[in-house]
Amino acid sequence: MRTALADFIKDTPAGREAHAILRSCVHCGFCLPACPTYQLLGDELDSPRGRIYLVKQLLEGAPVTSSTQLHLDRCLTCRACESACPSGVQYGRLLDIGRAVTEQRVSRSAAARLKRYLLRKIVPHTRRVRAALALTRLARSLLPRELAAPAALAPRSSAPSWPAPRHARRVLLLPGCVQPVLRPQVDAAAAQVLDRVGISAIVPRGTGCCGALTHHLSASDETLRQVRRNVDALWSHIEAGVEAVVSTTSACASMLTEYGRLLEAEPAYAARAARVAALARDIAQVLGPEREALSAPLGGASAVRPRGAGRRAARVAFHAPCTLQHALRVSGTVEALLSAAGFELAPVGDRQECCGSAGTYSILQPELSERLLRAKVAALESGAPELIATANIGCLTHIRGGTSVPVVHWVELLAERLSVANG
Ligand code: SF4
Ligand code: SF4
Repeated sequence: MRTALADFIKDTPAGREAHAILRSCVHCGFCLPACPTYQLLGDELDSPRGRIYLVKQLLEGAPVTSSTQLHLDRCLTCRACESACPSGVQYGRLLDIGRAVTEQRVSRSAAARLKRYLLRKIVPHTRRVRAALALTRLARSLLPRELAAPAALAPRSSAPSWPAPRHARRVLLLPGCVQPVLRPQVDAAAAQVLDRVGISAIVPRGTGCCGALTHHLSASDETLRQVRRNVDALWSHIEAGVEAVVSTTSACASMLTEYGRLLEAEPAYAARAARVAALARDIAQVLGPEREALSAPLGGASAVRPRGAGRRAARVAFHAPCTLQHALRVSGTVEALLSAAGFELAPVGDRQECCGSAGTYSILQPELSERLLRAKVAALESGAPELIATANIGCLTHIRGGTSVPVVHWVELLAERLSVANG
């Protein structure tokens, strides 16, 4: 795509990156069928190609309007278009650059600014999320309904215990911000499964939100503060020798892989941030190579059952979060682990589609998010599963709000299977 960027950006790192990305797009349109918002709205400006064109215009100096902002806001950042693109266009990066410029040029309504401010100031902070959820009425006005729903808040009675570190192989397990409040048993389950394959999971002190939420709200300074804090908190462990920095939330794992790029201009952090990014893994990427070690103790006729359903094989529908399949490019790993553990995989009609959670999307674009959720739940339920499993706390809580089928993190199923096999 021929591009002549405006003076305000053309000689900046962002401008040079945007220019290269724009040049790589050949307008073929192969990305359009993969785009959930184009599927829903049928407007080219709500497609990847249309948004690329909008960003091109604004970076070339055209007036930036609230219409531009609306079409960029409607993007889920699911990056399904990147997986579909034959030219390797880095759409997600281009969107980040376009959104940052738009945010500076187009003012939002007072209500929209307040909503985004509260999201930035509450959600990345575990204690504030806990407090907000305790204040149910307040939580219902600030958070998606599924986060405020009693079912989402109810702790499970049999959270697995955390195994003592005893192996030479060690990984860091980042708690993140929201998951410790909404589903603390996920990391404990991951630690148990890791322990079974000879890896000890260590929780580093002093980490917090990975920065994804503020990053997607174009709050650059806040994001970089969070990223620096995490790099500082992780570094002594990395120097001591860990083989990976792991998250059980695929969106956080994806964000961690961006740390090197985000801090590349800061000499005090660049090398360390690049090392964190190189070590970043979703839990599926760590356990995938261990499938044989897991399938031996887990195999057999009986499998984990839905609560109260007795000991019988469970039929599981797996929702692959966009960050797992499109950002981290992990595909089929979780399904293989679940199969090896004895679970029956239920077919999912549209296994590539976004559920509509997409970070803060369910709050900022509730109508589109709801339509995507309904379609996703219909696809997941089409194979008559007894359980739905996913790999991201946002997807988990969002899907849970649209179905009566229990929704869990897939690693919880492996941990429960271990307890069945041991028990
Ligand atoms: S982003 Fe990729 S698939 Fe979409 S129009 Fe451009 S080159 Fe084609
Ligand atoms: S990131 Fe997702 S919603 Fe946004 S343009 Fe690409 S496919 Fe469409």
